[in-house]
Amino acid sequence: MGFGGRAPSGSRVEPWPGITGGNGMSWLTNFVRPTLRRWISPRVLREAQWVTCPKCGATVFHRDLDANWRICPHCDHHLTLSAARRFDLLLDAESWARIEIPGAPADPLKFRDARRYGERLKEAAAQSREAEAVAVAHGRIDGRGAVIAAFEPHFLCGTAGAAAGEAVVAAAELAVLQDAPLLVVTGSQGPRIPDGAFALLQLPRVILALRKVAERNLPLIVVLADPAFDPISEALLQQADVVLAEPEARLGPPPADPFAPMDTPAFLAPRGGVVGAAAARRRGRIDRIADRRDIKAEIAAILDILCRPFPSATILAYPGQETKLIDAAPDA
Ligand SMILES: [Zn+2]
Repeated sequence: MGFGGRAPSGSRVEPWPGITGGNGMSWLTNFVRPTLRRWISPRVLREAQWVTCPKCGATVFHRDLDANWRICPHCDHHLTLSAARRFDLLLDAESWARIEIPGAPADPLKFRDARRYGERLKEAAAQSREAEAVAVAHGRIDGRGAVIAAFEPHFLCGTAGAAAGEAVVAAAELAVLQDAPLLVVTGSQGPRIPDGAFALLQLPRVILALRKVAERNLPLIVVLADPAFDPISEALLQQADVVLAEPEARLGPPPADPFAPMDTPAFLAPRGGVVGAAAARRRGRIDRIADRRDIKAEIAAILDILCRPFPSATILAYPGQETKLIDAAPDA
């Protein structure tokens, strides 16, 4: 074939190596953007970005949104909040520390879909600055000790795999050890299929760990933050003593196609059976809906009631019988 001539019919024209890949990705997205990202600190890059509110469409400066706990200043829509900011929001300043989570097997099945799962894990850790999709911290909420496990919605969409289960179990065990209430904040798009059976095995472990918390009469408070589409969150919502929800937070079943790669529209597609916070409250699945900025005060008030020692109760006997005083303390 001469220069400028036509390729013979049926022959495949190979793209120029280095400029366009076979999958249509350009040199700009393959090389220039990653190189720029390596040079410029991710924090500077993030703060200089604008975010479009998914509800009202207003464009908000990232820094302003962060300062407002990622609540849209125009329509009060609650955008996803990272686990680190969640700890800042709920725990007293300088009162809290993170817990190192026991290591779960990373990529036990050497899974691969469009990309290697191991690569996705590394990229998610770099972008979210979390080791996994659930982070655990212990600290004080208005002076009262508590353990918090928070889903990180920016780590592979908060998908619950083996490590997420380990983290919730570790948080529950720490709550029992410290005799402290347990708080869990949801934020997961579904189960993590690449962990296979290792992810499935976590559900009974989580349920058993929560049972130990209940046996010690320690409160379990779940904050429903959007979304909660994974089985671990479902178990937590069922076992919780009190469920608070952020406005418009959704709970529901796993994705219609859980085997789809985690960052694709097929995985994130709308699915049947999803319930919003208001509808869930009408069905009795949620106790209260509160603005993100008020949730700490709400939790403090609830803990004040749930952790208060039982006063002695006076039981009035039927006429003709003596009035008895009984001590209703839990250890009586
Ligand atoms: Zn808005």
